[in-house]
Amino acid sequence: MSSDETAETESTDFIREKVRTDNESGTFGGRVQTRFPPEPNGFLHIGHAKSIFLNFGLAKENGGTCFLRFDDTNPETEDVAFVNAIQEDLAWLGAKADGPPKFTSDYFEQLYVWAEVLIEKGLAYVDDQDAETISEQRGGFGQPGVESPFRNRSSEENLGLFRQMRDGAFDDGSRVLRAKIDMQADNMWLRDPVMYRIRNVAHHRTDDAWVLYPTYDWAHGQSDAIEGVTHSVCTLEFADHRPLYDWFLSHLDLPSDQPQQTEFARLNITHTVLSKRVLRTLVEQGHVDGWDDARMPTIRGLRRRGYPATAIESFVERIGVAKINSVVEVELLESFVRTELNRSSQRRMAVVKPLKLTITNWPEGHVVMVDAVNNPEDPDAGSRSVPFSGELWIEEDDFRLDPPPKYYRLTPGREVRLRAAFFVTATDAVLDDDGNVIEVLATYDPATEGGSSPDGRKVKSTMHWVSAPHAVDATVHLYDRLFSAEHPGASVEGAERDPLDDLNPMSRETTAAKLEPALGDVTRGEVVQFERLGYFAADLDDPTIFHRTVGLRDEWANIQKRKK
Ligand code: ATP
Ligand code: MG
Repeated sequence: MSSDETAETESTDFIREKVRTDNESGTFGGRVQTRFPPEPNGFLHIGHAKSIFLNFGLAKENGGTCFLRFDDTNPETEDVAFVNAIQEDLAWLGAKADGPPKFTSDYFEQLYVWAEVLIEKGLAYVDDQDAETISEQRGGFGQPGVESPFRNRSSEENLGLFRQMRDGAFDDGSRVLRAKIDMQADNMWLRDPVMYRIRNVAHHRTDDAWVLYPTYDWAHGQSDAIEGVTHSVCTLEFADHRPLYDWFLSHLDLPSDQPQQTEFARLNITHTVLSKRVLRTLVEQGHVDGWDDARMPTIRGLRRRGYPATAIESFVERIGVAKINSVVEVELLESFVRTELNRSSQRRMAVVKPLKLTITNWPEGHVVMVDAVNNPEDPDAGSRSVPFSGELWIEEDDFRLDPPPKYYRLTPGREVRLRAAFFVTATDAVLDDDGNVIEVLATYDPATEGGSSPDGRKVKSTMHWVSAPHAVDATVHLYDRLFSAEHPGASVEGAERDPLDDLNPMSRETTAAKLEPALGDVTRGEVVQFERLGYFAADLDDPTIFHRTVGLRDEWANIQKRKK
């Protein structure tokens, strides 16, 4: 067994290793506490699922706890609707937080008290300069920072001003509270970072109780400490913030052990964008129907598309947790979805691009019920009766008047099997004025009922069909990649590009399909296999609409073969 496979079966990684070492050395008294900290300013996407399964998994595997904490420090962009949606999505994913959700806004008072502690220690000051000036003075890498003229105010003066800031004595943007660390630090985050801004806006939970709002850096580590988090796991872009995370905590009297931040690589997927900002633009500019459009990588989108939550979890487990950013092929995700649906979904017949087929020797008005297997992968799934008549729908692609070489489906003079029913031979076709085939004429062999011939005659193809008088009408969405480029927005020859330039204009094709009667009874969200076409999910709101979840072909296996 290669070391790769060992890692996979034991499902370990550097974060799980760190937790194990901490437990052995008693760093946190053997306690493991994590949190998933979304900002309620958008919907969760599959990248968040990676963080969710990691944080909840760490707690579960170690008998610890994991809280859901809403990092709600930006009232302008946040909304209670997102708070509710995030909880629904977590529940659907099967991630169960310990206790009710927590909110950073519940800690505003404690954070404020701690800010006063830092002021009293001479470690924070009120700066009267505007945001632009402060940003300019920050300098850059190898470029010195400039100390604010307000940096050396006395603690008393700072405290007085800070209290007035809280009381609403000043306008938005007129003053900030900054940590007093080091304007020449190599790490930019240590160059006297801003802790509080004045914003006279109502908050979705604290209403107008506050006009001071803490920054992410000031709020995050302290919220971890208030809750008793041991392992604060976040994505790599926060690695540079870690010295600041530690600096704040080290200057405060904490109620429990000082939490530790560890960073891991965020999930990236080919042909996919996982940036809330870009996803919002897709919605706002109408490139998709909404955050829950079946083409979106949001949890809601994937759910509408028919992705099982368990397949998302298996995928996230399989890709593991690493310290280096990489991009995972979308085909791998799809293969997890396909494997799971192959096991669980019922087989049905549906024609997505219908062409009429008339059996000329079929007794008029006669109907036969044929028996079709529900799921060959599941012996307990049984079979169903499907009505067969002399008027059928077949797939447009399954008939050619002038067949190309190696075309084994229906063409005049050729005999094929209609799945679970009869052998038929095409005899003729009816054309419209433009020469398009609008109807196929065929004869059937009554001796082939059930789809096999008593004389051992072989046919080269088996086709699906739907009896026209019994057909249920439906709208079917066939999907292609939302972004045609493998790496949407990737720069070309150093030039910045917009991911929207890589949108695939043909990402959705909608057809009027004909379904076998049993498909009239699907439940919302149910996923079935349309024989030969792929897996299709009944829409969550309107079960006469179906979304193609994934096709049948295992593209991941092909990619693996090509790589070898
Ligand atoms: P933004 O900060 O731009 O609003 P975000 O995607 O970071 O967007 P958050 O709500 O802050 O959104 O994310 C919550 C948690 O999910 C964070 O801990 C973040 O690191 C993690 N996360 C977000 N995107 C990914 C991703 N692609 N892969 C793994 N974890 C992610
Ligand atoms: Mg974030």
